[in-house]
Amino acid sequence: MQYRTLKRCGGQAVSEIALGCEGFLGKTRQEFDTMLGTALDLGFNFMDMYTPDPDFRDALGAFMRGRRDKLVLQGHICSVWEEGQYLRTRDLEKVRQGLEDQLRRLGTDHLDVGMIHYVDGEEDLEEVLGPVMAYCQELKAQGKLRAVGMSSHNPAVARQAVETGLLDVLMFSVNAAYDMQPPSEDCEDLFRLESYARGGTNMDPERRALYELCEREGVAIDVMKAFGGGDMLSAELSPFGVAFNEYQCLEYCLTRPGVVSVMAGCRSVEELRRLAGFYDASPEEKDYAAVLAHMEKFRFRGNCMYCGHCAPCTVGIRIADVNKFLNLCLAQGTVPETVADHYRLLDHHASECVACGLCEGRCPFGVAIVEKMARAAEVFGS
Ligand code: SF4
Ligand code: SF4
Repeated sequence: MQYRTLKRCGGQAVSEIALGCEGFLGKTRQEFDTMLGTALDLGFNFMDMYTPDPDFRDALGAFMRGRRDKLVLQGHICSVWEEGQYLRTRDLEKVRQGLEDQLRRLGTDHLDVGMIHYVDGEEDLEEVLGPVMAYCQELKAQGKLRAVGMSSHNPAVARQAVETGLLDVLMFSVNAAYDMQPPSEDCEDLFRLESYARGGTNMDPERRALYELCEREGVAIDVMKAFGGGDMLSAELSPFGVAFNEYQCLEYCLTRPGVVSVMAGCRSVEELRRLAGFYDASPEEKDYAAVLAHMEKFRFRGNCMYCGHCAPCTVGIRIADVNKFLNLCLAQGTVPETVADHYRLLDHHASECVACGLCEGRCPFGVAIVEKMARAAEVFGS
């Protein structure tokens, strides 16, 4: 397992592949403990808990007794249990009770991330930025939340939320198919095959801008729907008409700017082991570009997808990283100090490019790399 940091949560290290909670629902206590124990042994240390299901919370609380420090917990605010079922609410009294219930059942005095649950609409965001956000900031000041997050499927709304400066973490739906879709307040649009009927070209600019904004601001993205609810893994169901494998989906998400972790909904010990096998998989098994570059109705051309196919550079430039840093600056219209620092730390800089063109012949997406290196040398001054 490898780890990345939640920069605005004290640099907390979290596993790149993390645990969704849906696979733990409906398990016996023994199954629950075996699965979670195996996950910890495999190095998973980050868990999302969108569900307010009291049985789940009780089981997790019992498991964690004496080992709370082994898990970084992302609990949802505004996801409550009412009349035996899940309810999303912005009613502050219910929200408070829901959080108290969560802490009590889990047997802990804090959540590492308090995730404001499921905000896809502009009006909803406006409402959430009132008393709910004030409550979350109060909890953070009290130490009951170490970081405040928000979950969303809508890049326009997510971007507005990140721009407030109040979010430390964003939970966002990311996969190559959703990345082609424009913003929508109805997340069902992402799941409808009709949304993809006309094909498309390149990533939606709003999504690209959101990921770059998060990277610049140190807002950690943790990914939901990396496999599109399983659709991406099936040629019949995938909007692209071709199947990705799980490792390609993981690699795609983990190479987007801003992404720190991917929440995966494993249902068994075998599934956990298979996902952990990501780190033993060959580059070919993880190669999402092999799928993306050969689709008929969908084209990714001219924009760097950070796939790394252009390597090795004749003089050792890490082209994908240079492109990523360059894009962060171009999107902002300035060179943020943190990006300049990261660029400085590279062993080889864009100014060293000898324009041999070998990398361009290897790029499946037709990126004008020589031009990009020249631009990067100009922007960063080296
Ligand atoms: S320049 Fe092309 S090959 Fe290199 S990382 Fe970007 S998309 Fe991939
Ligand atoms: S063109 Fe520049 S960036 Fe590409 S391989 Fe040659 S030296 Fe490296």
